[in-house]
Order: sequence, then C-alpha cells, then structure tokens
Amino acid sequence: MVKQKKLNVAVVGGGWAGMSVGADLADNKVPVTIFEASKTLGGRARAVDTSEAILDNGLHILIGAYKKTLSKIKQVSEESQKTEVLRLPLNLEIHPNFSYRASSLFYPLNLMIGLLNAKGLNTIDKLSAFFFIFLIPLLHKKKSISEKTVSQLLHQFYQSHNVKKYIWEPICLAALNTPSNIASARVFLSVLRESLFQGARSSDLLLPSNDLSNIFPNKAKAFIEKNGGLVLTSTRVTSIEITDRGFIINDGRTNAYTHLILAVAPNHLPSLVRSLPSIKKIIKKVENFEYQPIVSVYLQYPKETTLPKPMIGVEDSVCQWVFDRGTLLGQAGLIGVVISGPGKHETSDNKSLAMAVHRTLEREFGFPNFLWHRVIREKKATLKSSPDRQDIGNDTDQENVFLAGDYTESEYPSTIEAAVRSGEKCAKLILKNERF
Ligand SMILES: Cc1cc2nc3c(=O)[nH]c(=O)nc-3n(C[C@H](O)[C@H](O)[C@H](O)COP(=O)(O)OP(=O)(O)OC[C@H]3O[C@@H](n4cnc5c(N)ncnc54)[C@H](O)[C@@H]3O)c2cc1C
Repeated sequence: MVKQKKLNVAVVGGGWAGMSVGADLADNKVPVTIFEASKTLGGRARAVDTSEAILDNGLHILIGAYKKTLSKIKQVSEESQKTEVLRLPLNLEIHPNFSYRASSLFYPLNLMIGLLNAKGLNTIDKLSAFFFIFLIPLLHKKKSISEKTVSQLLHQFYQSHNVKKYIWEPICLAALNTPSNIASARVFLSVLRESLFQGARSSDLLLPSNDLSNIFPNKAKAFIEKNGGLVLTSTRVTSIEITDRGFIINDGRTNAYTHLILAVAPNHLPSLVRSLPSIKKIIKKVENFEYQPIVSVYLQYPKETTLPKPMIGVEDSVCQWVFDRGTLLGQAGLIGVVISGPGKHETSDNKSLAMAVHRTLEREFGFPNFLWHRVIREKKATLKSSPDRQDIGNDTDQENVFLAGDYTESEYPSTIEAAVRSGEKCAKLILKNERF
C-alpha cells in the first residue's frame, strides 16, 4: 500500500480498548475516526438503559493496580476520577463466616495485619497464606508455572482448605473469571503480584459509582471530538477494502484511512477481516479461543433496603458478589448480583434465577419482597484464562493493521485494564512508526 504522508486512523470498536486508542491518538493530534456498531459506547463494560433504571451489562470490580485504566480516566475527565469510583482498602467479606480488611497502617504492613486479623481463618490457615504470599514474586518468574492451573499451584504450596475457599478461589474467579481448576497459574500470579507488590494502593478495591459508559467511554468520546476526532455510534463496519489510497470502510469512498485498528471482541474478528488475508494466522488462533459467561441479576427492593457493605460475597450460594447500587450509585434499593463462570444458573430461566437470588438475600440479610428484576446474560463475557491460552500481540502481518482488545494481553486476564493497555500499545505503535 502507498504510504500516506498524513495519518488518518480508523478504529473499529468503541469498547474500552477502542476508546483508549482513540483518546491517545486524538491527544497527539492524529485524525481518528471510531466506528461503533452499538448506540452505546463501552462494549462489554457499558451502561444498559432499561425502562426501570440505568444498569450496567455487568457489575465490574476494578482494583488499584489498574494503573493504565485510572490514568486514562483522568486523561479524558474534567472532573476528578474520585467521582467515578469508590476506592476502598482491600476489603473482602464472604458472608457469614469470613472477613478480611486491610488495616490503616502503612504498606505492606496494612495487608499483613489485615491477614492476621482476618475472621474465619485459624493460625495454620494464616501461616499457609503468608507462606504463599511471600513466594509470589519468585514463583511468577518460574517457567514451570506456565503449564499449571491455579488449583495445582495452590495444592503444591500447601494452601489450606479455608485459605483456598475464602481467599484464593474467590479472587481467581473475580479476577480471571475462570474457576481455579482450569485457570492459569501464571496469569493468577501476575494479578497477585501487581495488586499486592506494586505499592500501597494497588490492592484497593475500586467500585464504580457511575454507570460504566459514563466512567470512561462517553468522556473519551467528548475528549476525542474536542481534539478533532470523530466517534460514530450505531455504525457497524461491514466491509473493509484495501486500496492504493488506503483502507476504505463500508464503501465510504471519499475517506481512505492510512491505519486500521481492529478493537472488536475476538469472536467478532473473523467476519470483519475476511478481506485481509494476511491476518489468517491470527484468526486461526482466535477461533480456538474459549469463553466464560457472566450473569448479572438486578433486584429492585424498597428504597430503604441496603447491604451492610457496598460489596459482599455470600458463601455457598448462587450469589457470588452482591453490590448495593444505592450506596454506590445513588440507586436506592437496587441490588446487583454477579454470577461468574459456568454453572447450574445457566439453565435457569430469568424469573427462577431472580427468585433464587432473592431467597438468598432474604435469608441472609432479611430483605423484603422485590419490586422488579432484570437478568443480563453475557455468554462470552471474557476469555477463558487457562494455561493453554494462545498469545496474540497487537501487530499483524498486514501492514498498518493493529489489534486492540482485552485478548491481546496474555500476561493479564481479559479485563478493562487489559483492554486499556492494548489500546495504549496500539497508539504507541502508530506514533512510533510515523512522522506526521
Ligand atoms: C458481565 C461482565 C463482567 C465483567 N467484569 C469485569 C470486572 O469486574 N473487571 C474487569 O476488569 N473486567 C470485567 N469484565 C471484562 C471487561 O468488560 C472486558 O475485558 C473489556 O470491557 C473488553 O473491552 P474491549 O474494548 O477489549 O472489547 P469490547 O468491550 O468487546 O469492545 C468491542 C466493541 O466493538 C464493537 N464492534 C464489534 N463488531 C463491530 C463492527 N463490525 N463494527 C463496529 N463495532 C463493532 C462492539 O459493539 C463493542 O463495543 C467483564 C465483562 C463482562 C461482560
């Protein structure tokens, strides 16, 4: 293809990866156009406007180690990011038998004292957890870890039943969205290392206090447009053509793009790149990906109904994590429940699942009858983070075509942070190679 003197970049996909790359390019005054199929920006982390309330397609948990995400939110926001997320020192409650709260002492003593004071663990449990935590930075570098699952790793390092049940397995499911018996030990250790060994606030929990589209994607749109870019929603890309003038999208002959960034979920990639034969090798890998589901159940209770904490786990129940949207987003009485990974809940109809969730909340917290419910099922929420997951980078064999998305960061589970990192990398690749 003839190299254009002036850059003009097309980004397909307005999820967190696409909006990150768009923000970085616009910040560097590179003309950029984002094409998003849906009318709402945010992809798998987006607001869902229902007749009853503004919900999210999934109740997301962020952590202090999401450094790129936090700086991206800051880059595009005029207000402080404090209004977008509630930051809490690492605080895990698995009702009714376990609770952990990082103390207010300095790092890393705060985390250690938290473990010493944890409710639901005996001395042997605590010693086994300390032993494992100290090994994390060393284990992370070991090659032999690559083929192991999280369960094998925990077994090898003598983690007690309670430490697995209350600490490592819930963290594994929340961070990797993959059960520990099939989850990658390498990726699990990466997450632990980044959250426990990268400074005082990396282990903080960041709970959204705005809807997911408003936390970043909508603000990124305003930022991109203020800096001369264009964000087209409700615009699905159905054809990409390579011509001498550049990439032509959806037969828009007046506009040719010098660079193309494909920021769609991996399952949407194959149909999009039929006209780009050099990407075939990558597509073969992508077609072998396996996915994990997440179901979100929302129940609206009378306005005075609250949880004892903004986020609580419930032991041995259908409710893995329960969120109080009243405390977090000012949606009084609205409770959201996350059910990650595969399980019996997948075959329940929405009404039965909502009733099962309600019965747990009624039993554990004395909740009254609910007023309405919504169930949102994401069958391909994230990639299965297993030891055999294939690596895919951001560059491709097709000149000037790059891939952005949570699946391109093999050291990290498919999360918002992975999506944002990938976007930043794509922008760097373009800016590094081109003078404009
Ligand atoms: C229910 C749920 C819960 C989750 N919980 C967490 C969590 O707690 N913490 C966390 O960090 N992560 C979580 N994740 C994962 C996180 O949401 C994703 O990793 C991240 O949003 C992926 O972003 P992305 O930009 O890579 O891809 P996507 O969000 O999939 O974005 C791709 C975009 O491309 C668009 N698109 C596709 N095809 C076309 C086309 N032909 N033309 C134009 N546009 C197109 C799509 O509409 C979409 O907007 C969760 C995900 C789900 C679904």
